[in-house]
Amino acid sequence: MPAPITHVAFGPHLASAPEGVRAKVVLGPKGSLKLDAIPALTESSAFSSLAVEAAAPLHLPEGERTASVTLWTTGEDGAAERVTLAHFCNKKSRNMGVLRSDKLRAAAETHVPATGDALVVVVVENAAEAFAAGLAVAKNWPLYTRKTGGERDERTVYVDFAVADGSEVDYDELTKVAKAVRDTQRRVDTAPCELTTSIYVEEAKALVERLDDPNVSITIIQGEDLREQGFGGLWGVGKAAEFPPALVVLSHVPETVEKTVALVGKGIVYDCGGLSLKPTASMTTMKSDMGGSAAVLGAFEALVTTGAAPTTAVHALLCLAENAIDAKAYKNDDILTLYSGKTVEIVNTDAEGRLVLGDGVAYASKHLNPDVVVDIATLTGAQFITTGTVHAAVLTADEEVEAKIVAAGKTTGDLTYPMIYAKELLMPQFESKVADMTNSVKDRMCASSAAAGHFVEAHLDAEFTGAGKPFLHVDIAGPSMSAGRATGHGAALLYQFTKNF
Ligand SMILES: [Zn+2]
Repeated sequence: MPAPITHVAFGPHLASAPEGVRAKVVLGPKGSLKLDAIPALTESSAFSSLAVEAAAPLHLPEGERTASVTLWTTGEDGAAERVTLAHFCNKKSRNMGVLRSDKLRAAAETHVPATGDALVVVVVENAAEAFAAGLAVAKNWPLYTRKTGGERDERTVYVDFAVADGSEVDYDELTKVAKAVRDTQRRVDTAPCELTTSIYVEEAKALVERLDDPNVSITIIQGEDLREQGFGGLWGVGKAAEFPPALVVLSHVPETVEKTVALVGKGIVYDCGGLSLKPTASMTTMKSDMGGSAAVLGAFEALVTTGAAPTTAVHALLCLAENAIDAKAYKNDDILTLYSGKTVEIVNTDAEGRLVLGDGVAYASKHLNPDVVVDIATLTGAQFITTGTVHAAVLTADEEVEAKIVAAGKTTGDLTYPMIYAKELLMPQFESKVADMTNSVKDRMCASSAAAGHFVEAHLDAEFTGAGKPFLHVDIAGPSMSAGRATGHGAALLYQFTKNF
């Protein structure tokens, strides 16, 4: 049977319990699940069925790593209810977030029933933890599946928080950001035959229509127009595919603009490697090579719907192409002229992301007058080695921007960690005899993830960099997927970064 379509509904459900919910799950860091210590739980109508004496065994045994207790009680209407209390490990060292989003998500997966409505209560210290906790829980029920076997049922998981310090949770913000994150997951999970560049363009248009905001607009440069206007990277990479490449720019420009942020996402809807063909094992999952663009689109949706950055103009650039093979495919030894005007000798057609991003950041920095340009991409296999499968790797010359993206990661659970910034040492890796640069490093054992970021940076408009404006590169190759499923990594991260910029 296919998994049901799960709606996630955040709200003050402890104060006003949803009717008819027979499965209730309380998740809390180890040591937090003492009902008498959490008035929000004991005073809640949702849990009134728990007799005082029944609460005693719910004090989970100390020293257990993943302890849980499930008991059956009788609801106010006399029907049976299943109540589970479970611990998750919340041990955090300095590079983890405000709470262990990974452990909380795993606990939700284990303890929340797969079907039927459910109420989930997460025990947190404060509203900031609730935000990260809500996003972690929401990621647990992906929207995309093509399993057959019957109609997909719909069900709702109601989520609330028992907040120890009593601070108020912003359910509206959480609802909107979580929706954008789940949309991001859905787009990344979608099979490439269902998310071609052309369908992706339509999806972006549909989002603009759905947002129905007079301050939102969309610009699309597609197919041959890219070649004619000088987007040698997008055109070169995407011209061999059945559906044409495209640069999509979604803009939200409020009445009063104090700052402008440009977010540029890699949107390779499928990456077989091109003529530098990937082996099967590393080609499978390459539907996720558009994860950066999905994160940008998700962040844009969240920023517009929440209004969290009311005086910030946001431009979301999706660099869409399929890296495919046919007689027109770009080749090793080709030289492409990117939108920056710089020439690139192709030495590896599988290093295509930086070519489309080079065009994207060149366009953004030249035409959109941004105060910061951020690019995000599933860019390098080396990112796995640099910062692992949970943390994105970030590159910037600006220490303040670096601190802001790390903080945004800790707030949202989309973790990040900085790479070395040393273009003097790394750009010589791209030295070419016949062009301004090659598209791949000479030495793979020399910080090649950071080098790839410097490659993208090299295509920023000279006036933008000359003005000392910051550039930030985010590589999410590792964290974009987990166990064969999209995580939505980057959407909440860029939302939070832009909100605080
Ligand atoms: Zn590639």
